Amino acid sequence: MMAEAAVAANGTTTSHSKSSKDAGHIFNSQDGLHPSEKLLSIAKQLNKNVEDLDFALYMDEQDPLRHLRNDFFYPKMKDLVSTDVSILDAEEDCVYFCGNSLGLCPRNTKQHMDVELDKWAKLGVQGHLNGVLPWAHCDECVDMDMARLVGAKEGEIALMNGLTVNLHLTLISFYRPTPTRHKILCESKAFPSDHYAFESQIRLHGYDPATSLVCIEPRQGESTLRTEDILKKIEEEGDSIAAVCFSGVQYYTGQLYDIPTITAAGQKKGCYVGWDLAHAAGNVELYLHDWNVDFACWCTYKYMNSSAGSLGGFFLHERHRHNDFPKLLGWWGHAMDTRFKMDNKMDLSPGAYGYRISNPPGLLVVPTKASMEVFNKTSMKELVGKSRLLTGYLELLINRCYHKPAGAVDGDGDHVYVDIITPSDPKQRGAQLSLSFNINVHQVINELSRRGVVCDKRLPHVIRVSPAPLYCSFQDVHRFMRYLADSLEAAKNCTEPVDSSKHH
Ligand SMILES: *Cc1c(COP(=O)(O)O)cnc(C)c1O
Repeated sequence: MMAEAAVAANGTTTSHSKSSKDAGHIFNSQDGLHPSEKLLSIAKQLNKNVEDLDFALYMDEQDPLRHLRNDFFYPKMKDLVSTDVSILDAEEDCVYFCGNSLGLCPRNTKQHMDVELDKWAKLGVQGHLNGVLPWAHCDECVDMDMARLVGAKEGEIALMNGLTVNLHLTLISFYRPTPTRHKILCESKAFPSDHYAFESQIRLHGYDPATSLVCIEPRQGESTLRTEDILKKIEEEGDSIAAVCFSGVQYYTGQLYDIPTITAAGQKKGCYVGWDLAHAAGNVELYLHDWNVDFACWCTYKYMNSSAGSLGGFFLHERHRHNDFPKLLGWWGHAMDTRFKMDNKMDLSPGAYGYRISNPPGLLVVPTKASMEVFNKTSMKELVGKSRLLTGYLELLINRCYHKPAGAVDGDGDHVYVDIITPSDPKQRGAQLSLSFNINVHQVINELSRRGVVCDKRLPHVIRVSPAPLYCSFQDVHRFMRYLADSLEAAKNCTEPVDSSKHH
């Protein structure tokens, strides 16, 4: 509190020479204050109202990472297909709150892509071993950068395939059911692809998902899972569970699970514990090695900005480095120094590399490399420091404008309420907030997209908004609130049912 007051007071003086140093304090995530409290106290010191644009602009000025936005192509209102340019400024940046689904394109991606295309044009097959990104081991050129972002050690990471494929590859090794230990424990409403992977793995082994797939549900009337309930389930059924596999950050609710605690609890019961980090990688701090996670996989196109469907990440803990688990083999899992003897005698690379099957796609490693270069300008700690304030700002403004007062009834017609189903505790979430409304969600999203707000709806009834800290600003949050107000007004008054509302 004290340090902050001093910072805020400094910010109002005419000298800005200290502001970048001071900003470090404001954006420090380690002080234990809830971001709302922090923002309100900064505003108070400045004698500003958090709802005023002025306040958002002040926060942007203090943001030590604000320059990173320039490292991205930021879509303009006029270029999006959904915007109605009659009601907005076509030249303006859109409000891109969809980095949880597809991250923006880093500017250097194009340059790096040109280099590799030129190399292919000029060198052909010789490009495998030459140039800045020799294709034959291009994945290895970026995996240490990736390892840093997820808290992994050398040899624990591979970049390959897609996320769901990698989930299957890990399950082949770690899900080996026996009649007494045959279950997979996951969250209810796991992402469909994960759910299908679990079901199909169970069936492949001759078991029945009805009895072998255990999905934990939130308590009645709650949207998110309580850690204590997950631990209780592990305690009760752990002896029959072969693998515990949750997402790190839940795609629908935005809840960040307590990865180290759940991992330790599962392992104590003799289960392997793995994580789908699709929404966690590049979004929250991860220490996969120190947390003793058995296996993990993630995609790189969400918060990691590496282009649609790009390479998946794969983590295998060091202690499984020399495992003899079943796995699917290919020539790229073969140790590099003997791989090209072509003697058909497998000399498997230890660790994660042994799980590689095919040679890596150079043109998918390029955007991953470009993205890692941007991440290398900061750290997850610093990013999370900003992210908590940015998402906290969004939460604060939504709660101030649309919080449902006690006693209010949902269908009172005149008032629109927004319920944030994502936990308010910044340690239990990343950048995303999942919003539910007392009016038709399809109309809300339609109105938002007309106004150049890029976010998405997830059925049955939320809109996910995610201000990614690498390229979103406090001003974006402020603009979002303005467009949200207009959208809710329009959606509320819209009597025509949106076609897709039949799903509602
Ligand atoms: C995005 C996402 C996926 C997507 O899987 P792909 O194999 O990359 O298509 C899977 N699981 C979760 C939890 C996700 O969030």
